[in-house]
Amino acid sequence: MKIDHRTVGVLEENCYLVVDDSSGRAVVIDPGDEGERIIAMIRGAAVQLDAIWLTHAHVDHIGAVAALRRAFDVPVLLHPLDLPYYTRLSAQAAEMYGIDFEQPDAPDREIADGDVLECGSLRFTVMHVPGHAPGLVSFNGEGVAFGGDLLFAGSIGRTDLPLGSPLDMDSSLERFASELADETIVYPGHGPKTTLAREKQSNPFLTGRARSVRR
Ligand SMILES: [Zn+2]
Ligand SMILES: [Zn+2]
Repeated sequence: MKIDHRTVGVLEENCYLVVDDSSGRAVVIDPGDEGERIIAMIRGAAVQLDAIWLTHAHVDHIGAVAALRRAFDVPVLLHPLDLPYYTRLSAQAAEMYGIDFEQPDAPDREIADGDVLECGSLRFTVMHVPGHAPGLVSFNGEGVAFGGDLLFAGSIGRTDLPLGSPLDMDSSLERFASELADETIVYPGHGPKTTLAREKQSNPFLTGRARSVRR
């Protein structure tokens, strides 16, 4: 497996390209902005793109979906609880923040907790971890987790946005930390990658020194 990424847009979101070396097939996770740069990354890797997987549908994670679909004509996968963002709220947020945004067509496939997604020989299990957004999912497998804005190196995603839930965030973090192996490499929606072990040691939201409900 190869993982490449580009940090895109004013909100510095991480868009990941996940490649199965054995088959040359790939998926892109959270194409948030700067479609041309993401398209160049995919073309440069000389892979067969299978799909666009979305951890959630905040504006900084879906801004380049329309451009990628035009370039590659691949299906978009999203948890249905984030449809309010995908279809309406993200466009509103873009207008409010003055971000260029192209409204993408409706997603092609709904994903749910426990779904197993394939990319060539790679297998990822969908874990529904709401709180930062109602339909936030993490794609877990092959020793890594793409958790979107659930868990960052040293911090967690904010829960004060519309449809956010601090209580859900707490149970999602607890589940994520208890069900995944400590050595899992976490690729977050913002900032550098980390490991679950490192976060369990030093992240105040996992050590119990801070609770998201008090933020
Ligand atoms: Zn977000
Ligand atoms: Zn984000």
